[in-house]
Amino acid sequence: VKEPHFSDLSAPAMEQDPIVPDTVQTEPKAEVKYGIVLDAGSSHTAMFVYKWPADKENDTGIVSQHSMCDVEGGGISSYAKDPPAAGKSLKQCLDQAVSDVPRERHPLTPLYLGATAGMRLLNEALLCVSRSLTNSMASDSVLSAVTSTLKSYPFDFRGAKILSGEDEGLFGWVTANYLLENFIKYGWIGQWFRPKRPTLGAMDLGGASTQITFETQKRIEDPQSGVTLRLYGQTYRVYTHSFLCYGRDQILRRMFSKVMQAGGYKTNVSNPCWPKGYQRNFMLQDVYNSPCTAAEKPDSYDPQRTIGMDGSGDAAQCRLHVDSLFNFTSCGFSSCSFDGVFQPDLSGNFIAFSAFFYTVDFIQTVMKRRVASPDDLNSAAEAICSTSWTELRLKAPKQEKWLPDYCTVANFVYLLITKGYHFDESSFPNIAFQKKAGDTSIGWALGYMLNLTNMIPADEAGFRKGANY
Ligand code: AMP
Repeated sequence: VKEPHFSDLSAPAMEQDPIVPDTVQTEPKAEVKYGIVLDAGSSHTAMFVYKWPADKENDTGIVSQHSMCDVEGGGISSYAKDPPAAGKSLKQCLDQAVSDVPRERHPLTPLYLGATAGMRLLNEALLCVSRSLTNSMASDSVLSAVTSTLKSYPFDFRGAKILSGEDEGLFGWVTANYLLENFIKYGWIGQWFRPKRPTLGAMDLGGASTQITFETQKRIEDPQSGVTLRLYGQTYRVYTHSFLCYGRDQILRRMFSKVMQAGGYKTNVSNPCWPKGYQRNFMLQDVYNSPCTAAEKPDSYDPQRTIGMDGSGDAAQCRLHVDSLFNFTSCGFSSCSFDGVFQPDLSGNFIAFSAFFYTVDFIQTVMKRRVASPDDLNSAAEAICSTSWTELRLKAPKQEKWLPDYCTVANFVYLLITKGYHFDESSFPNIAFQKKAGDTSIGWALGYMLNLTNMIPADEAGFRKGANY
């Protein structure tokens, strides 16, 4: 008898054929299980509610996204000065989860919170800058505040943790390949005849860090970026690296710092990465209160000092500033991406999500340009930088919030992918810029839950234990 497909479970009962005999109608429906993950990113927190049929728990591609919720306000790390507010900020979404998950399943629904680079930076501030316990205490206080909120809900709360950059990369890779059903369970007969399916590499561009993860047959010269995973009885050798301070928002801060340095820290400076006609004031602390820029503070640093910045829309000059954020020269291995980080040759197809997707989607839908080659991306970045503020607003009135920064981000994405990761004419078309697979968002959250609930059988204790950051 053919088992019902999972999507059939949500089909309205009305669609049943009224003349089907009773015996068929009363066949028990497979039970649905739920799991909740809060992705506490640097710029904001998103809550994902997943569901899957209980009887197929260990199959691949069976978990899907039931619902999601964007938490209002900033990421949890932005509440360092008022930790209880971090907890409160989550309530609206958690209340939604209470109604999204059937009541009888509440106590059986695992609930996790994973924090990423925003919280890693808060910790780092302790290690590198203040040399006191202040910031580590701040990140601990934020985690305990969110923990107490999460515990007050009727779910099976299983912890609030900071993920390492490597975990963030690996779990994003697991999510993408799980959803696209690249992990296949082979029986002992199958193993003799069927080759493993190729997996998809994953590229994630968050607010504070960026990750690249792919399977490789090459020797991984830096043991820190190599992981061997056993999933469904298959072995995967995976390269992963997370670049802290190379997320979209930290790149913007670092660019502002370069622009101010170039302008001699005057009170009014011209910013080649902003469109002509755009102007904004900000305080020095908006740029420098991050470990990513702390070392570049001007000599007489007054955090409250206001700077006025005027866009000059100079594509070539902007490119130079963004290029200067990378170190493309030093490499102590046989090959590197940048900043002396080992990277083996690229192999296979890739999926690029989060801000990679937002950027390419903007180029395609607003700038109406194709992105099929590195040259396309290069000229699109140039075109964005040369478009005035008035024109940009006319093109995309609803996206005003993001418009001033696309010039910087498009240049960054271009340089990161080509000069950084070494995608060229022939490998660039292997990248799919996509934020979802079916209805499920691609990011580390699903892979994190699959691991912690042991839903991907590998060895007895799941495929990745603990998280060291
Ligand atoms: P996230 O994927 O939410 O971690 O966001 C990654 C980065 O993209 C952050 O810097 C966000 O501020 C930024 N971002 C989020 N939504 C958009 C959007 N619709 N357009 C452009 N950038 C975005």
